[in-house]
Amino acid sequence: MKSMLIKDATILTMHGGSEDVLRGDVLIRDDIIAAVGPGITAEGSDEVVDGRNLIVMPGLVNAHMHTWQTALRSIGSNWTFPEYLRWVHAGLATHFRPRDIYISTLVGALNQLDCGTTTLVDWCHNNPTPAHTDAAVEALRASGIRAAFLHGTPKPDPRPGKSPFWEVAHPREEIVRLRQALMPDAGMISLGLAVLGPHYATLEVTLHDFRLAQEFGLIASVHEGYGPSRCPEGWARLESEGLLNGLVNIVHGNELSDDRLGRLVDRGVRFTVTPESELICGHGHPILGRLRNLGTWPSIGADIESAHSGDMLTAARTALTCQRSLDNIEARARGQFGGKSGLRARDALNWVTMEGARMLGQEDRIGSIAPGKQADLLILRADGLNLQPIHDPISTVVMQSNASNIDSVMVAGVWRKRHGRLLHDGLDSALEELGECGRRIRQAVGLHLTDIT
Ligand SMILES: [Zn+2]
Repeated sequence: MKSMLIKDATILTMHGGSEDVLRGDVLIRDDIIAAVGPGITAEGSDEVVDGRNLIVMPGLVNAHMHTWQTALRSIGSNWTFPEYLRWVHAGLATHFRPRDIYISTLVGALNQLDCGTTTLVDWCHNNPTPAHTDAAVEALRASGIRAAFLHGTPKPDPRPGKSPFWEVAHPREEIVRLRQALMPDAGMISLGLAVLGPHYATLEVTLHDFRLAQEFGLIASVHEGYGPSRCPEGWARLESEGLLNGLVNIVHGNELSDDRLGRLVDRGVRFTVTPESELICGHGHPILGRLRNLGTWPSIGADIESAHSGDMLTAARTALTCQRSLDNIEARARGQFGGKSGLRARDALNWVTMEGARMLGQEDRIGSIAPGKQADLLILRADGLNLQPIHDPISTVVMQSNASNIDSVMVAGVWRKRHGRLLHDGLDSALEELGECGRRIRQAVGLHLTDIT
């Protein structure tokens, strides 16, 4: 058994209660956090890390990202959501070969580690063949990140003689195959379904897909929102069929009515907001405040690097900033000036740690620093030019820090970034291949610079 002690650090446990911030030590044995608190003896530890200048916190959980889009970075930064659907899903996506999925997913996942994410929910919906799926899973394995692989299906334009994507049920045989294939990865890569849901599919397909996920006890995650729904009665039918529970994850949800939102929350459905893509692409404001008013919080995802950064510290800050603004506008409309929104930096850090863990049903394993949990850590150097002086470390992390402050990242007790450097061989060649892949796919659809600027 290997053991490591981080000594005399500032620890943001995010475990709730008054002990969220403490000065002390973290003892790690193999992949598990063995003890947290002041005065842990270093005796017998294989490695002792001097934490006096470090902030130690749980690794971030990115609850929604299409990692396969890494080769398309910022290609759609100036597009609306309909343009994104047309160019990316009906065009660029159709030219991805399995190797393109691999290199995109690998670099995307490595960047997540570099930016402090230790658990990545990879909503992979460019899987026209099992070879594409296997390439994505292999890349997640190779990166060393903890992941939830949510298997999805592509959205090409309808072709003569073929059913359009919204009439195609999720392939059961692929889920059966993947459950088997991912068994050796238990704990590091879990499986879920990225299904079309009522917004993008017929009622028949929606009911089939939700039943399929429930049959195997897997998460069914859906995009919800932007424009007319293909199946407006879908959520009511899913409710009456008893298919709504904590295994259902709704991403966005901006256009759900208050009544529908309340009913979904009552049934334990988990929500994920993606602040940057929702604000950039025209979905509307994130529903953080509406969920807060119903007594719950969402997790947060980075969504599409084809439009914006995948950095979760930025996503957390954007989410907090946006909701504070909405709260302030509402208060001023009531004639109240100088009131407090009540949203705290601590809330934002909770969304990208514990709420991500809850969305995955893994709150007993990840998302906070507590004995018995997985050793997934994000460690920042506290002496940054952009961080000093530190009065409240949680506010510093949420409102001041960025990836350049991240000294080290650990997943399941293994260093993946150390002293500011990502520990992965072959980064240069991976980036070169990613660039070639992105250029080739862009050329394949005839996408000119004038289309993207
Ligand atoms: Zn998405």
